[in-house]
Amino acid sequence: VMSPVAKPDWIINHEDVIFVKKLGEGAFGEVSLAECEIGGQRVETAVKTMRCQMTRETRAAFMKEARLMRKYSHPHIVRIIGLAVHAHPLMIIMEMCPHGSLLSYLRKNKGKTTLTQRLRFCIESADGLAYLEKKQCLHRDIAARNCLLSLTDQIKISDFGLSDDKRTEMQDDTLGKVPVKWLAPEVMQDKLYSLKSDVWAYGILMWEIYADGMDPYPGMSNLQTRAKIFCDGYRMPFPEITPPLIAELALKHCWATLPQDRATMRSVLVKLRDFSMPDVSE
Ligand code: ADP
Repeated sequence: VMSPVAKPDWIINHEDVIFVKKLGEGAFGEVSLAECEIGGQRVETAVKTMRCQMTRETRAAFMKEARLMRKYSHPHIVRIIGLAVHAHPLMIIMEMCPHGSLLSYLRKNKGKTTLTQRLRFCIESADGLAYLEKKQCLHRDIAARNCLLSLTDQIKISDFGLSDDKRTEMQDDTLGKVPVKWLAPEVMQDKLYSLKSDVWAYGILMWEIYADGMDPYPGMSNLQTRAKIFCDGYRMPFPEITPPLIAELALKHCWATLPQDRATMRSVLVKLRDFSMPDVSE
């Protein structure tokens, strides 16, 4: 006899989530390593617990987004395995990325990351973003801190689609936490997020990759950055080790003032793959 209301397989029971240890702190709550019972198998997962009490509307929107995201499948996007929503706190159960964030990797390996690895990080993140672009999915918070590394150091873009708008609000400099330095001019000005503002942020990510995870616009405050970009049309120079074609890709194709003048992630990816092809002209 079939049960009249079947539980969708992506809904996970709270009692099937066994916490192992805390991994980090997120905007919504904590992220922990947890073992999960999925389809009769024990799987290592990363579980994000939602701290805040959500309104009915927020929760519905969140669920809708998560359901959509579960359909996405790409080697460079963190996979959502399921949701635990039948009790509090709400949990998102994700694929575990045991090697942590790209930002901490770059900082730890300062001066040691090879140009080949850096180009690979650029290509893999562009690959993931081109996939999201194809799905018309805005990320809104592309940065090295939101790229995670798998067991084999493959890039996995995390946190897409669920970005919390409050975090990117323009506030005064003393708050320091607002990721102003990743924002395109039209987002700084009018909060106009689009696939093209993600392309701008991708250019900043490329810079982080070649600058060993330094803070962008070194020595400049958020307010100074904003003023320079707007008033002087200033664009941040890339570190000397950067291949000229990479720097040009960011400067010309990601950091165009007008969103419509920026490249698509698809075309950025194609250009990057061309750079990585061995030179067979000789
Ligand atoms: P938020 O974007 O809400 O601030 P994050 O997604 O950045 O939260 O998560 C906070 C921290 O948790 C990250 O810096 C990372 O160390 C860890 N983390 C998040 N997702 C994973 C994952 N899938 N695998 C491993 N660690 C993760």
